[in-house]
Amino acid sequence: MGLISDYRAHTEERAQSGIPPLPLTAEQTKELIELLKQDPVEEKEYLLELFCEHVSPGVDDAAFEKAAFLDALVKNDATCSVISPVEAVKILGTMLGGYNVKPMVDALSSESDEVASTAADMLKKTLLVYESFDEVAAMADSNTYAREVLESWANAEWFLSKPEIPEKMTLTVFKVPGETNTDDLSPASEAFTRSDIPLHALSMLGSKMDDPIGTIAKLKENGHPLAFVGDVVGTGSSRKSGINSVQWHIGENIPAVPNKRTGGVVIGGIIAPIFFNTAEDSGALPIQAPVESMETGDVIDLYPYAGKIEKNGEVISEFTLSPNTLGDEVRAGGRIPLIIGRNLTRQAREKLGMGDESIFERPEQPEDTGKGYTLAQKMIGKACGLPGVRPGMYVEPETLTVGSQDTTGAMTRDEIKELAALNFGADLVMQSFCHTAAYPKPSDVKLHQTLPYFIMSRSGVALRPGDGVIHTWLNRMVLPDTLGTGADSHTRFPIGISFPGGSGLVAFAAVTGTMPLNVPESVLVRFKGKRPDGITLRDLVNAIPYKAIQQGLLTVEKKGKKNIFAGRILEIEGLPDLKVEQAFELSDASAERSAAACTVRLDKEPIIEYLNSNIKLLEQMIDSGYGDPDTLRRRVEKMQEWLKNPELMEPDTDADYAAVIEIDMNEITEPILACPNDPDDVATLTEILADSNRPHNIDEVFVGSCMTNIGHFRALGEVLKGKGQVATRLWVVPPTKMDMKKLIEEGYYSVYGAAGARTEVPGCSLCMGNQARVADKAVVFSTSTRNFDNRLGKDAKVYLGSAELAAVCALLGRLPESGEYFDVVNQTLQDGQDAIYRYLNFHEVSGEQLQELVD
Ligand code: SF4
Repeated sequence: MGLISDYRAHTEERAQSGIPPLPLTAEQTKELIELLKQDPVEEKEYLLELFCEHVSPGVDDAAFEKAAFLDALVKNDATCSVISPVEAVKILGTMLGGYNVKPMVDALSSESDEVASTAADMLKKTLLVYESFDEVAAMADSNTYAREVLESWANAEWFLSKPEIPEKMTLTVFKVPGETNTDDLSPASEAFTRSDIPLHALSMLGSKMDDPIGTIAKLKENGHPLAFVGDVVGTGSSRKSGINSVQWHIGENIPAVPNKRTGGVVIGGIIAPIFFNTAEDSGALPIQAPVESMETGDVIDLYPYAGKIEKNGEVISEFTLSPNTLGDEVRAGGRIPLIIGRNLTRQAREKLGMGDESIFERPEQPEDTGKGYTLAQKMIGKACGLPGVRPGMYVEPETLTVGSQDTTGAMTRDEIKELAALNFGADLVMQSFCHTAAYPKPSDVKLHQTLPYFIMSRSGVALRPGDGVIHTWLNRMVLPDTLGTGADSHTRFPIGISFPGGSGLVAFAAVTGTMPLNVPESVLVRFKGKRPDGITLRDLVNAIPYKAIQQGLLTVEKKGKKNIFAGRILEIEGLPDLKVEQAFELSDASAERSAAACTVRLDKEPIIEYLNSNIKLLEQMIDSGYGDPDTLRRRVEKMQEWLKNPELMEPDTDADYAAVIEIDMNEITEPILACPNDPDDVATLTEILADSNRPHNIDEVFVGSCMTNIGHFRALGEVLKGKGQVATRLWVVPPTKMDMKKLIEEGYYSVYGAAGARTEVPGCSLCMGNQARVADKAVVFSTSTRNFDNRLGKDAKVYLGSAELAAVCALLGRLPESGEYFDVVNQTLQDGQDAIYRYLNFHEVSGEQLQELVD
């Protein structure tokens, strides 16, 4: 079969599911071009539609073929009876940036005035021009068309030619009551379809309600666009696929960009900050407003500027459009296009000697209080070249370290392609394969084979399947007091600060080395006293919401939920001696608080030790071919530079916090657990055992995820040693292959084997829920990060707590009494603590051992 019949069959097959065909591959595009070169062209309307609308733009391989053919047509090096040189330039102008830019810049010098003037018109609205800006600017003195383009950029015609948000929007409500997390919008079990937006969108809300797609289709019949409405929207992980799915159902098509939509209105009583930002980046209009009076099927009038929502002529909700730049963002097609376009306009005005523009809304900046800065405010300030920043400021800090994980990796790759980038601007970009390593689907295997090259060819670093969890690796590449991001909501550096984002934002940060940021307020959690024996760091993690609930700063109930941490920076102090591996347990869990970011104030000594270890690891990674050696070498040099004068930032004593929560560790007298199925629903062992509504038996135990380190696995092994088979199903998954190899060497794997445990490939394993799963309806004790409904298994009820308590639960098949727990851990773990809680210090092993661990 030829391209036409194949593609028609494929289109028909996808139409059965109500979705459009996939964009053309590079091979299909080449074949299409050969058909277009024939004279006469058969089925010319169909072929032109495929060529114009079904090839992805940017630096996609198919876009390369398309742009090269169009360039040849413009230069009369090829002919096509259905695409004239002028038409060719027009089509180039729809390709957003990347491979289409040079042909359009060349066309400015065409002998044909019509071609040159069309190229100018197309370039005026093209933002992703990067280094081609200099070429156009240089031509502007002698080429009138280039001058026109430069002036147009300077006057922001690309922006002003687009419509503003209307005064009034009439919408039909699609309401999802209660809390909707990003796993509801983009289920982990369907992660392998995420880069196929229409297909993936079919799984949206599938486990939350009956027939959501049918309901949406029915609601659309009244002709109004839909508003996605919820009490709490977008909690959980940072996945861009969540907003992609929402926009697929409520947004608008983008001309010449296949299988992607923009726009759409999202109204939430609370919208989780990462989801809010992802919606902004994608061109949606997110609004935080009371939603109690809105129900599915209601027709509402939304007045964005007046800040009110009416139903049947009555005001049912009021809000303030925030941030104040939101209108410009939506008009530009999203926050990212706005930032890129604003910079282009600024550059062009500078070149033309024009003053500052007054076209765009300036981000509102708060008054300077003159007070001191928190640690986070200093870290962000450093990344902006300032002594500190104030909450509410809009800044674009340098984003030194960027992480990308595999289930969002394909989307990040697509976003990088759409940003038309052939190189990274961020100092270090790292890709992992931890979420799909253990049980890859064919699409995962393809990603494992292709994505490393994509990342490394742009100067990034790529891990390999089986290496382990993204954060455990990325943390080892971070520099103290610096800022970064990652397309995984647990990207939370223990020795710097990270603002995780969706894949669009992360692609932007990787490409430009900066990110947009509205500085959040900070909440300080100060630990004091001494941690009692048997009380673990995980208990301290859970003590934070426990104390916040006691102080009325956090509620478990979703309706009207209070959460002092939501969208703020969680700053933790009082535990200066923690090893960096331990500190990550605290910063990692700030994601479960819905905090925007986290800092942990540590002493120099653990950081010096960690960096010395990491330098050796990175040097070995260079030798083992992990990616761009210059990038890794540059990072090693920066670490060495810091070690020469190891200074850490400290918060000012008069800094302001939105709240200060003091936790006296002496008062934590027993383990604290997060109960099924909410990480905020924390209770002590005694409280849980006294509550007959909570399950007390345990069917399965999972020890793994980025919340764990080698110490937890030794502790597990010590508790299990010599006790025979455990009473539950037990899953043991170390975070990295280095941990696994070390544990094997120390004999712990033989202990797990004797206990009947199931050991898996280092990585996310059960935590992500897209690989092996616990049994349906199982009661689970897990050391992983979060326990949202259905994450670890269908209808599973999941407790979250320490590895030490997990070991005891596995032995008993139930939650122990507090006394039972302390008996076991005191007998097995109290002696030899130094040997058990000893971390991987790569600078203390021989070169051969290091190679053995890393290779
Ligand atoms: S272990 Fe869990 S929380 Fe950590 S990166 Fe993997 S899926 Fe995310």
